[in-house]
Amino acid sequence: MTEHTTPRPPDTADRPGLDVELSGVRKAFGTREAAITAADDVSLRIEPGSTVALVGPSGSGKSTLLHLVGAIEQADAGTITVGGTDITTANRRALAAYRRSLGFVFQRFHLLPALTVRDNVLAPLLPDRKALKEALPRVHDLLTAVGLDGRADALPAQLSGGQQQRVAIARALIGRPGLLLADEPTGNLDSATGERIVAELVDPAHRRGATLLIATHDPALAARCSRILRVRDGRIVEDTRPDAH
Ligand code: ADP
Ligand code: MG
Repeated sequence: MTEHTTPRPPDTADRPGLDVELSGVRKAFGTREAAITAADDVSLRIEPGSTVALVGPSGSGKSTLLHLVGAIEQADAGTITVGGTDITTANRRALAAYRRSLGFVFQRFHLLPALTVRDNVLAPLLPDRKALKEALPRVHDLLTAVGLDGRADALPAQLSGGQQQRVAIARALIGRPGLLLADEPTGNLDSATGERIVAELVDPAHRRGATLLIATHDPALAARCSRILRVRDGRIVEDTRPDAH
């Protein structure tokens, strides 16, 4: 076993916040003349336990950055280190464990249509029987926190877009990840519901020391973050730290 080089598998203990470091990261889509540079020489350090908002116009490269840090896309150049592990050189097995250790809220939710709400939330823990058993009592609390108590046995197709988004948020939090990556997590929620989700889920994740990286168009959500990165044409063009509140 080479477990010492592999991030810890999902468990129910609180994971310490992970630091994230990008150095000279590039990612292009398409070829030659038609190529679009979605990440253009991005270098960045995110301290463990910080809450970082990625803001910027549609197409500026926010999702690409999240996908690169989440090891969903592979960088063309540069290095990305998360919690001391270089995910640009890690092997497939290590990357699979790394992805499972993260919380990821996808812009398009990606719920499994044949699974109930409860099983979608638990899905990230399926490979780990012990973690699954320990997490079972938390599913109800998480679903209550996202306003979906009583819908545990529903299928995704029976839910509205906003409700599916809230299932995706609960799923991202079930493993108490040390790094939560969220792609416009309140994009399909009315502002009151978005506020509530942030207050009940994101703030507690921050309080227990998790690192949060959130792409958002929602000024209220960005305002709750300790740092705001403005992205344009694949570059970080502004890096601000609003006063502590
Ligand atoms: P944002 O999330 O800020 O809207 P994205 O990261 O999705 O921006 O996209 C950045 C740029 O990369 C856009 O021009 C987009 O069209 C392009 N892009 C993103 N993903 C792909 C892909 N899989 N194939 C081709 N182009 C892509
Ligand atoms: Mg996007």
